[in-house]
Amino acid sequence: MPENEKRAQYKHDKAELQRLYVLFNQLFPTLETIWHELLHIALSRALIFCKHCHCTNFIRHAGTRKGTCLSCGKKQSLTARSFLRNIRVPAAWLFLQWLTAQGYIFSAHLIHDITGVAQSSIAHIEKSIAAAVGGQPNEASVLVKSAMFQKLVCHRSRETPRGMHPQDEELNFDSEEAQGQPDLESRLTALDHNQVLIAKMLSDKPIGCDNLTVASGLPFPMVASSLTILEMEDLAIRLPGDRYILKNANSVNSNANSAAEKSNLQPKQAISVTLFENVMRNKFSGASRKCLQTYLDLFWCVIDRSWTYVKLSQTCFGAGYIGGWRILNAVSPQELRVPCSP
Ligand SMILES: [Zn+2]
Repeated sequence: MPENEKRAQYKHDKAELQRLYVLFNQLFPTLETIWHELLHIALSRALIFCKHCHCTNFIRHAGTRKGTCLSCGKKQSLTARSFLRNIRVPAAWLFLQWLTAQGYIFSAHLIHDITGVAQSSIAHIEKSIAAAVGGQPNEASVLVKSAMFQKLVCHRSRETPRGMHPQDEELNFDSEEAQGQPDLESRLTALDHNQVLIAKMLSDKPIGCDNLTVASGLPFPMVASSLTILEMEDLAIRLPGDRYILKNANSVNSNANSAAEKSNLQPKQAISVTLFENVMRNKFSGASRKCLQTYLDLFWCVIDRSWTYVKLSQTCFGAGYIGGWRILNAVSPQELRVPCSP
């Protein structure tokens, strides 16, 4: 994105977030309204247990997270061991949950700019919400290789190899995958002469069945059947328009495979991928590889509008305490869950 467009986007996002923050403060002007909103769903759905008698009926003390158990009469914190354990800025936690439930996603940097809350705290809250959401089953998601998002990866993380580009984190997975696979030559020994001939003509550049027929001098049906065998043997990938590329084999080629994988997606899934890429590029100026799944989980709340505040609050409480340690150690796997709009 050109620099002036980037600035215009930032300005637009800032104005929108400002408007939302004003609205939020009108809706939740006091600490009491904030604690009420943060806890009333968990309380009404019996998600908070008394640590003395396991009863789920409490009276909350106005303006605080403390409550009195209606069964044993003991006072306690209603957020102990929960998603909201030890939180210091309840307004920020509610603001982020509220924004997510409205289908908005903003960078921690921008939210810090508007609210004044530390950027690291905002990032921690966003990641906590994503972790809670990501623990939910999502039938409308598709698994894709993280290499598909390679171009988005430009932020360093503690996973980035020293002195290397953030995108090189992907190499860890590539080499692990390559180690588990026999090399191309040994896989070709199981094939017949014609199949080997066709396999050796494939590369990471798509080539049509017609061109392969001309170049190989073999009859068309033989080329077509050889390609089918290569596909079944997981050596070739068929692209739209009856074109083929060599599957990663011994030379791992993430770009070719990610292009192939993208063209294999259903239209709805491809739209989700493109939308996600746009959000990450325009609002976050890219991502770290480590956090790709985190952002995909947040993005799910944006595109799937069944994520109401009630559902989100309940899910977060159901997830229990997440904490900084778990977030710090979360690394996106090689296969990412990409949500699709229902
Ligand atoms: Zn009790």
